[in-house]
Amino acid sequence: YDSAADSTSAQTLSLLSELRRAVEQGELRLFLQPKVAFDDGRLLGAEALLRWQHPQRGMVPPLDFIPFAEQTGFVRRLTLWVFEEAARTWRTLPVLGGTALRLSVNLSTHDLLDTELPERLVALLQRHGVPAHAFCLEITESAIMDDPQRAHATLERLRTAGFKLSIDDFGTGYSSLAYLKRLPVDELKIDKSFVIGMERDADDAKIVRSTIDLAHNLGLTVVAEGVENAAIWNLLHRLDCNEGQGYHMSRPLPVPQFIDWALRWNDRTATGWGGLELLTSDRTASAEL
Ligand code: C2E
Ligand code: CA
Ligand code: CA
Repeated sequence: YDSAADSTSAQTLSLLSELRRAVEQGELRLFLQPKVAFDDGRLLGAEALLRWQHPQRGMVPPLDFIPFAEQTGFVRRLTLWVFEEAARTWRTLPVLGGTALRLSVNLSTHDLLDTELPERLVALLQRHGVPAHAFCLEITESAIMDDPQRAHATLERLRTAGFKLSIDDFGTGYSSLAYLKRLPVDELKIDKSFVIGMERDADDAKIVRSTIDLAHNLGLTVVAEGVENAAIWNLLHRLDCNEGQGYHMSRPLPVPQFIDWALRWNDRTATGWGGLELLTSDRTASAEL
């Protein structure tokens, strides 16, 4: 008898039932973090990030429950919740400068191995009357490498359904370039661990630079996450990075605050892109949220 193993499985069960309750009782929250174009500063879309408003523990960050949900497979339920909520939200977002915003949703390994996922997502969108091109699906390199063949097949079907596809956390996995080249993806997202360090660490800066070149040579759009300050913004702009996401522009926000942020941001960029000035003045405001 192993009492340690027993207490862990008891904990697992209780966290799992708490997570079920979270879904059923409406404790999950959708946050949005802006994605901005480097060339003219326009807002292109946002990444949907999950939070758990726990009745006792307060706002629980995703890293405290998503890895667990991934181990148990419950993450598929969370993905559907996010997708559903994102579809509902998309219809309420302002259309700025004539183009609708695009929402990015994270998929896990379990989602990617689920052969029914593409149909399920398509049906969900139809129910909400939202087009697939309104969504970008972010898939980590490691999720793809778990079972490359099956992942590839799911990606092909998602692409055919009209979703934009992105490789997330790029640089942290072990995918070969030859393999990457064959994937039906549109976007590469450079992991924030390299971006945050690029100001001070010459190696990180080199990794970021070569990733941008690589992505462009493969005809992909490059997004940098972890744009924490004006210096990083500047460097990435010079390296021809396409889109940025980070605390410098805004932290992830609840939907109503995101809409306010988007309208204010659009007012300023529409009257002439003030570049870094603009970003710097916005920084204090977003840091408080
Ligand atoms: P991720 O997909 O790499 O998401 C980006 C994370 O970077 C977010 O953390 C975001 O808040 C953070 N971030 C953005 N800009 C900056 C910055 O300038 N500096 C720093 N230090 N961090 C920045 P968050 O929201 O805590 O999410 C953490 C991870 O949890 C996500 O990493 C993703 O792997 C997972 N996650 C969150 N929501 C979902 C979801 O709905 N489904 C799945 N499968 N995973 C999710
Ligand atoms: Ca992501
Ligand atoms: Ca990342």
